[in-house]
Amino acid sequence: MTELLYLKDSYLKEFNAKVTEVQGNKVVLDRTAFYVLGGGQPADTGKLLRSDEEFKVLDVRREQGKIWHILDGEGLQAGDEVKGVIDWDRRYRLMRMHTAAHIIMIAIQELFPDVKVTGGQLGLEESRDDYNLPELNEGIIRKIEERANEIVQAALPVEIHELPREEAFKIPQLFKLRDVLPPKLPKIRFTKIANDVNACGGTHVKNTKEVGRIKITRTKSKGKDNKRIYFTVEP
Ligand SMILES: [Zn+2]
Repeated sequence: MTELLYLKDSYLKEFNAKVTEVQGNKVVLDRTAFYVLGGGQPADTGKLLRSDEEFKVLDVRREQGKIWHILDGEGLQAGDEVKGVIDWDRRYRLMRMHTAAHIIMIAIQELFPDVKVTGGQLGLEESRDDYNLPELNEGIIRKIEERANEIVQAALPVEIHELPREEAFKIPQLFKLRDVLPPKLPKIRFTKIANDVNACGGTHVKNTKEVGRIKITRTKSKGKDNKRIYFTVEP
């Protein structure tokens, strides 16, 4: 099992690890700070260094229960000691986008407490989330955006906590996704921003202030009870 270092410290930019398995240009490490594709968040990119030899990390995926770093070339061998370096500018922007998604959800649930997320995708330029909202007009959009930016300005800590699975399931507000069950893990990890709790295995900034100004760029109706909100954070 690869230890996922970003779950404990999302600000870790470099780490040392050992290669435990190799298949062509794909390697498994004993530990990694590279975010693994999932939950609507793209995988991290960056590089693995074996002394001064460099292998670019193009993607990181979970396949057959293992976490594979997909490299731009072959050559690493099981047992090799490597240094991992994350493309930090890219990851930090995704962390700001990801935290913005949580903040927008807080703003939406203040207006519509029963709304859930029905899908989403983070991007570097623009991100989107879908909600089972019956309606979404200009007035509501501006209200959500304004409230989201108040939360940014309030400089609230983004805390990370864990609860045993059975305890977590007693708190329905933890689970914001309508159609996706949490992974079958003994502990459920969640963020806490003021009173909001949100089960999530992604990477977040540690204070809402770091997100910067949130802008809702456009919306799209995906059906009677499904509305898509596109958003971005200031460069
Ligand atoms: Zn999250």
